Amino acid sequence: MNKIDVLKEQIEKAKKIVISTHVSPDGDAIGSSLGLYHYLINIGKSVTVIVPNEFPTFLKWMPKTDEIFVYEGNEEEGKKITEAADLIFSLDYNEPHRTAMYSKTLEASNAYKVVIDHHIGEPTWQNLNLSVVGASSTCELIFDTIVALSSEEYINQDIAYSLYSGLLTDTGSFQFSATTPKVHIIAASLLSKGVQPDLVHNHILNSFSESRLKFFGFCINKKMKIVAEKKLAYIFLTKKELNSYSLGVGGTEGLVNEPMKISDIDISILFKQDKDKIKISFRSKKDIDISKFASAYFEGGGHKNASGGVSYLTIEETEKKLLLLINKI
Ligand code: 5GP
Ligand code: MN
Repeated sequence: MNKIDVLKEQIEKAKKIVISTHVSPDGDAIGSSLGLYHYLINIGKSVTVIVPNEFPTFLKWMPKTDEIFVYEGNEEEGKKITEAADLIFSLDYNEPHRTAMYSKTLEASNAYKVVIDHHIGEPTWQNLNLSVVGASSTCELIFDTIVALSSEEYINQDIAYSLYSGLLTDTGSFQFSATTPKVHIIAASLLSKGVQPDLVHNHILNSFSESRLKFFGFCINKKMKIVAEKKLAYIFLTKKELNSYSLGVGGTEGLVNEPMKISDIDISILFKQDKDKIKISFRSKKDIDISKFASAYFEGGGHKNASGGVSYLTIEETEKKLLLLINKI
């Protein structure tokens, strides 16, 4: 049996389905989850989307975001829903630990597990893997999956809005190298289903508060450091700085991309101090594979040009470590 027939059979059999995604969900995580959710609901399934923690306000306009179950703060109910599921989708991540506070509950489940993701890595913990490493987005893969399971006619306007959002965010508004002809063909199909591209763009990208934009200005003006010979820009932010602007969930989203606007910068790194760690975002241009650096030295990974990681050292120590390791990039 091919993978799609296997999936079809599992969906037909399933009484309760859970769709899960990674911690601090982004546009692709929420878009792919809701896209698949609408499809499964429309074919008559019982489905819950579970996210580990809260997601940004600039994603809350998508149809049925109010139905998304946030695990953090609702753990007991989240465990019950997960235990009752006989089919669990893992979207936009391929390692259970990427679901953070939800990972133990996920791993304890005996449900049939399906991974659909585009990050680097070869997962072995699932029952079925429909991932395509290097695809533009998980939304692209959900589009393919729905078409393969049913047909393009099943992609309605709600699904189209969800999937278009993930295509837009994960390709950096159709700028990254994973923006293949196929991505534009899918985008065209989604537009033909009634998606208004300006509406999506305004909701997701032109929705800053005044305070958030001033915070970006502060980071670029006061906090950005340049290592010219390495074409590197980096920003360290303390907890205090992050708290002194009313940023809200997802308020630093996109900040790491700002230094990339400089023609002489090929690598940008953002360090954000959190309770017990420093969360790191890496971006690179051209053929610089920053995921290797992120996984070798900062317990992370992701994509060739966009990765994440973590440091348990202090800000001063982490900066020292970065400057020591810079030649390994
Ligand atoms: P961001 O910098 O936007 O948080 O993440 C960039 C990319 O790296 C995303 O695709 C994200 O899923 C991945 N990523 C972020 N943090 C981590 C991490 O701690 N570990 C791994 N393996 N991937 C991460
Ligand atoms: Mn993604």
